[in-house]
Amino acid sequence: MKITLIAHDKKKDSLIQFVTAYRDILAEHSLYATGTTGQRVIDETGLPVTRFRSGPLGGDQQIGGMIADNDMDMIIFFRDPLTAQPHEPDVSALIRLCDVYQIPLATNMGTAEVLLKGLQEGFIDWRLIEERRN
Ligand code: PGA
Repeated sequence: MKITLIAHDKKKDSLIQFVTAYRDILAEHSLYATGTTGQRVIDETGLPVTRFRSGPLGGDQQIGGMIADNDMDMIIFFRDPLTAQPHEPDVSALIRLCDVYQIPLATNMGTAEVLLKGLQEGFIDWRLIEERRN
């Protein structure tokens, strides 16, 4: 599965803790991330990550493009709900595309844990069938 990791600045420490805790599950999948988040995951967990542009510079839109191409299976996006983001329209667009294409999306750690446990149990294997269709 292709999994994207994104965290707004004040949530990056939490994302690193999360990735460290679920390293074994995440290591079995292909990881993608916006620029700064991806660099931190690489540096602090050693996991391989394909990095896009930084979120404010278009990274969220690049990931949205993959969703529109049916080429992304899950988004883990630790949003900061208490800080205004210069690229809020891009954030909204990414979340909207997840809803358009039924892509599993977690916007906080509580949901992200459930998603990864579901992934491990095979609850998202329908994505593999979807991919074969295209
Ligand atoms: P960043 O982007 O990983 O480059 O910080 C995340 C975002 O703010 O969307």
